[in-house]
Amino acid sequence: MNDEPLAPGLYIVATPIGNLEDITLRALRVLRSVDRIACEDTRQTRKLLDRYGITTPTISSHEHNEAERSRQLIQELKNGARIAVVSDAGTPGISDPGMIFAQAAIAEGIPVFPIPGANAALTALVASGLNTDHFSFIGFLPPKAGARRTALEGLARTTADPTTLVLHEAPHRIVETLADIESVWGPDCRIVLAREMTKVHEEFLRGAVQSVREQLAARASIRGEMVLLVDAKPVSAELAVGSTSVQARLAELQKSEGLTEKDALKRIARERGVSKSEIWRELQRERAWT
Ligand code: SAM
Repeated sequence: MNDEPLAPGLYIVATPIGNLEDITLRALRVLRSVDRIACEDTRQTRKLLDRYGITTPTISSHEHNEAERSRQLIQELKNGARIAVVSDAGTPGISDPGMIFAQAAIAEGIPVFPIPGANAALTALVASGLNTDHFSFIGFLPPKAGARRTALEGLARTTADPTTLVLHEAPHRIVETLADIESVWGPDCRIVLAREMTKVHEEFLRGAVQSVREQLAARASIRGEMVLLVDAKPVSAELAVGSTSVQARLAELQKSEGLTEKDALKRIARERGVSKSEIWRELQRERAWT
């Protein structure tokens, strides 16, 4: 093992996403040797440090104080300190604090050293069996139903080649999100749900979105951390949005986001890339038929 002293600078260190053995020898050496570890949650990181007998001082740095903390730590780095940044799990900066630190250090000419390791999105992708040549990391979708649906429709419209979409999702929203995917890409769209990876209850559900949704909905409870992968085939613009009538989308936006009819129609026109008058005419046509 390398026992050279660590160079001064900022170390972005990946930590396990469940199984504490998933950490590299280099990550352990860096965590042991830096002057301080900036943690998203010091209590969470302490479990990892205790497991490996690491006593390096920690300091909290989460999404609410990352900018302020980074100013303070940048000052220490300018004075020649060696500081590690870790998140609760996985790679810092990926749906987690870390980016602001890296940007601030680079702006000050401070070396930034990545220490690679676990990442939930890539771990799920490589075991999914879906296309790994082309994939898009989406992270978390908006939590509100209307905005989430809009985001998915936007993804369907902009997906030109077959690609795997990689999303983070919460257990209490997964069934609704699968229902949205079903209406945007159709019931046969292939998906993979990677749950509790590297932990005791690790589970991969693979299949058509409709069948996975029904399987989950039948469970007494849905728990754990999960990554959702979607085999997103290109859909025609008409299909991507045509699955929802203007009337249905209008009602959805009025209910979920409290928009007036005028504002909702403006939004729908923007979503579909057509003029407001076209959407208005379409609405009149739909109303005439119902
Ligand atoms: N920075 C982390 C990374 O590199 O993996 C991601 C942090 S993000 C706040 C947390 C999300 O990652 C969870 O909501 C879940 O979607 C996913 N995740 C983390 N650990 C997981 C695991 N063991 N199994 C499945 N998904 C996991």
